[in-house]
Amino acid sequence: MSDQKRLLESLYNEPDTEKILYFLESEDSGVLRELYSFADEIRKIYTGNAIHLRAILEFSNYCRQGCLYCGIRNSMKIRRFRISPDEIIEISKTIFQKGYRTLVLQSGEDPFYSTEDYVKIIRGIKSLGNIAITLSIGEKQEEEYRAYFHAGADRFLLKHETSDPVLYSRLNPGMSLTNRIKCLKILKSIGFQTGGGIMIGLPGQTKKSIADDILLFKDLELDMIGSGPYIPETGLFAEDISRIQEELTYKVIALTRIVTKNTHLPSTTALSVVNEETARRNALSRGANVIMPNETPEKYRTLYQIYPNKKRTEVSSADFLQELRELAFSMGRVISDERGDSLKASG
Ligand code: SAH
Repeated sequence: MSDQKRLLESLYNEPDTEKILYFLESEDSGVLRELYSFADEIRKIYTGNAIHLRAILEFSNYCRQGCLYCGIRNSMKIRRFRISPDEIIEISKTIFQKGYRTLVLQSGEDPFYSTEDYVKIIRGIKSLGNIAITLSIGEKQEEEYRAYFHAGADRFLLKHETSDPVLYSRLNPGMSLTNRIKCLKILKSIGFQTGGGIMIGLPGQTKKSIADDILLFKDLELDMIGSGPYIPETGLFAEDISRIQEELTYKVIALTRIVTKNTHLPSTTALSVVNEETARRNALSRGANVIMPNETPEKYRTLYQIYPNKKRTEVSSADFLQELRELAFSMGRVISDERGDSLKASG
């Protein structure tokens, strides 16, 4: 067994900061090849060959928060939209009829929707048939989270973005890492399948803090973890794409797979901005097992610009789904037609 392989086995059995950092810092193509192929083996053992699809519906770009990296933050002078509860249910019906068995409802933190609105939306969608609902609507009170769960929401996605508390407070004015983590713990205790994640390549982010992020995913016992590259908010011209931390993102996906094992890891939409086809294939062969096609109707989708260039990635269409099936086939994988629930639920 090579030294790298021994280190990977040891990382798998007893992960710690130092071992994770070794791989985050390595630029040796041989070391990275071993890292990626080990992550792919672990992915296969824990998730099999199924690739799960999660349809995303972005239903409001109003936001009360001012996260500096985000294109829909409160201070941005952009055209705002919100989709009514009835229309959300209507669109969800089409999504369900296309065969999706997971729907991710995402928005800015928009206080417009009351708990009753969410209950109505969730019940309306659940009455369509067997479809899992993931909410990605930010920080709420415990009672609100409980009401969504009791109405039938299955999962909740709330990325902690970075485990560096100083960086977190700098990037998210008026918010705190402590509260973010508290929300994740509450969601987990309520019974949600809980998702987290970080951005990679944030200005001021260290590799040591990324190693801490990966250990935190494990401590929080997350069911799904979506980590993508930070995409600079303005001025993303072709040449600037090189500033996006593509390789580091693959390392994080691979290390997250090895450390957290039985989790769902998407090839994130942000990663596809780098390179629509190869990035997805790379992520799927380095630990990822999920893709999130965007099912937001075009007239709204173009207004939901969390980061530049988002409009051209992961947009669902018959062609796109066919492309995914072909990609899966060429990799010896298959697009699942199931919900793809937590891998921890049964064990
Ligand atoms: N308001 C919800 C949904 C956030 S948007 C919430 O707070 O949970 C979903 C994700 O997009 C964020 O969690 C963040 O990780 C990512 N994101 C935002 N701006 C980004 C950027 N400039 N580059 C890459 N990812 C970004």
